[in-house]
Amino acid sequence: MKTIEIVVPCYNESGNIRALYEGVSSVFKEKLSGYALKMLFVDDGSRDGTLELLKNLSESDDRVSYLSFSRNFGHQLAVKAGLDYSEGDAVISMDCDLQHPPALIPDMVAKWEQGYEVVATLRTYPKETPKKKRKSSEHFYKLLNLLSDVEIKEGSADFRLLSKKVVEVIKEMDEKEPFLRGMVPWVGFKQVYIPYMAEQRFAGESKYTVKKMLQLAITGVTAFSVKPLYFAVFLGFGFSLLSLLYIPYVIYSFLNGSEISGWASLIMTIVFFGGLQLIILGIIGVYIGKIFKQTKERPSYIVSKHNK
Ligand code: UDP
Ligand code: MG
Repeated sequence: MKTIEIVVPCYNESGNIRALYEGVSSVFKEKLSGYALKMLFVDDGSRDGTLELLKNLSESDDRVSYLSFSRNFGHQLAVKAGLDYSEGDAVISMDCDLQHPPALIPDMVAKWEQGYEVVATLRTYPKETPKKKRKSSEHFYKLLNLLSDVEIKEGSADFRLLSKKVVEVIKEMDEKEPFLRGMVPWVGFKQVYIPYMAEQRFAGESKYTVKKMLQLAITGVTAFSVKPLYFAVFLGFGFSLLSLLYIPYVIYSFLNGSEISGWASLIMTIVFFGGLQLIILGIIGVYIGKIFKQTKERPSYIVSKHNK
């Protein structure tokens, strides 16, 4: 019997765990009775009793296991840890808040049985979703694709099935700032996308603050391309060329005797180029920061308890 393992990152999700557990188990009971189910919850440093809930759940049902981080490491690392500890023939990662409908699992499994190694999903939003969230997600993918080398489809979510083969590859990718939405298309193999309608969050609030979303955007871009560095080089060239063009004008106004009038334009140029240099330094800094993190060879996450 093939085992399908569901990996669920949870950060303060005590209001959702039970509902997700029931949703998934009933789908398996009704539609996937030919498969063994395993569920692996990753508690990402929650402070709302999530861990106690998970312990109880795993005692009452031995298909359930859990990992618990020593602190909050973030969604991407929680999913990565789940994949690292997983053992199923296929592994499905999904959010805890039921925005990823368990009802889609049978379709994903069917695609996997047809020979796809990656069954990813594309989210379409229901009409009631706040405009802010929809727009920010749209801009996020536009920017990401403009700036990076792998194609990341708009609306791709961390709701996907990976075959054991792909999971083994991802386990080997020891990135300190993993960005799975880029890593998964990057590994290749036979991939397919299926659309789904994102549900409303079942309970609680979104754990993605604006800060976390911005961080994800920067990680996403800089984890997948050095294009922003080229952008800096091109900008540098462009402006050097422009300043060369400026020289004849300077000589001309010197010969004319009218060269002192330019205080405003001088300050403008200084401020402008100062800003530009800071931006470019910032871009380079982000990459150096990544090298720094990677060379320290700290573990990317710390598991404090688990029953795997
Ligand atoms: N999550 C996590 N660590 C974090 C933030 C979020 O493990 O630091 C989990 C969260 O519990 C949920 C999933 O990641 O299962 C997606 O988060 P959320 O629903 O808040 O994001 P949104 O759907 O609003 O993008
Ligand atoms: Mg959510």
